[in-house]
Amino acid sequence: MIDQIYRKAVLTVSGQKFVEDLVRSRGFGLAQRFVAGEDSASAIRAVQELEKDGILGNLDLLGEFVASPERANEFAEKVLNLLDEAHAAGLTPYVSVKLSSVGQGQTVNGEDLGLANARRIVGRAKAYGGFVCLDMEDHPRVDVTLGQFRTLVNEFGNAHVGTVLQSYLYRTEADRDSLDDLHPNLRIVKGAYLEPETVAMPDKADVDASYRRLVYAQMKAGNYVNVATHDESIIEDVKHFVLSHGIERDRFEFQMLYGVRRDLQRELAAQGYRVRAYIPYGRDWYPYFSRRIAERPANVMFVLRGMLRG
Ligand SMILES: Cc1cc2nc3c(=O)[nH]c(=O)nc-3n(C[C@H](O)[C@H](O)[C@H](O)COP(=O)(O)OP(=O)(O)OC[C@H]3O[C@@H](n4cnc5c(N)ncnc54)[C@H](O)[C@@H]3O)c2cc1C
Repeated sequence: MIDQIYRKAVLTVSGQKFVEDLVRSRGFGLAQRFVAGEDSASAIRAVQELEKDGILGNLDLLGEFVASPERANEFAEKVLNLLDEAHAAGLTPYVSVKLSSVGQGQTVNGEDLGLANARRIVGRAKAYGGFVCLDMEDHPRVDVTLGQFRTLVNEFGNAHVGTVLQSYLYRTEADRDSLDDLHPNLRIVKGAYLEPETVAMPDKADVDASYRRLVYAQMKAGNYVNVATHDESIIEDVKHFVLSHGIERDRFEFQMLYGVRRDLQRELAAQGYRVRAYIPYGRDWYPYFSRRIAERPANVMFVLRGMLRG
């Protein structure tokens, strides 16, 4: 409960325009602990660096809801360029996309622009043998995102597109069951948005229990799972679960955020687990940065110290 109060307070304060202006005025320096850079070249370099430690990358061009079709199409073009650049750099491109940044909810020529752009992005990724994960945003977007995910799997197969389920939502276990026929590749997370108690569990213990159930159900169904958490007790439990249920190591991976628990990322990779870091980059880093700060009280001190240093 204290966690929730803290998170709510930080997300409310960081949503204030003057706080955003103040943090942004200090420039990218503050964000660089969690964000790989402001351009795609920096992000690709970060993937190459991590690969030296046996850690894979998941590139994310930062950007959320865009209000005009022109901006959405521009954003989609940048993601397509990213796929081209990653491929040209010798990587198998793996990217994450927020559908709100490519036009979800805007209708153009009778079709949702987010879906139309996602189709182009998944098609390009597939041509390079790559993968696109549709990030999950706040709860009003869950139905439409899962519907669009289903459409994309039907069109491209489940080897090139996946999505995310958030264990803090009451609805999520039923959502996972409803996707089972697709044998979906799912990233399981706890959830990062400020959600009302009517839709999201307020207690961390419940969110954690739901997290474990989702991962285990996904594994028992024989589907690929991205165990996206820094929670060591969950990671330990998952290691035991896979051993006791004979789940092969190529059926799941651990995923963590760039700049968070690098020690644990390296340790798991050295133990022979597949590990992937989520590598955000881009100029629109503020909302992502705020959510990371909201996850851990020590991170607020890190920001305040950085601001005092100027
Ligand atoms: C690869 C990946 C992709 C994600 N994609 C999405 C998404 O699409 N939609 C969405 O809603 N959420 C997403 N998230 C965020 C997620 O929902 C959580 O907010 C975030 O992962 C923190 O929860 P946790 O599972 O690490 O557990 P927690 O219980 O929050 O944390 C466990 C421990 O991890 C460490 N830790 C956690 N966060 C931080 C931090 N920011 N800085 C330093 N230490 C930290 C702390 O030691 C903490 O005690 C993603 C997370 C990951 C790892």
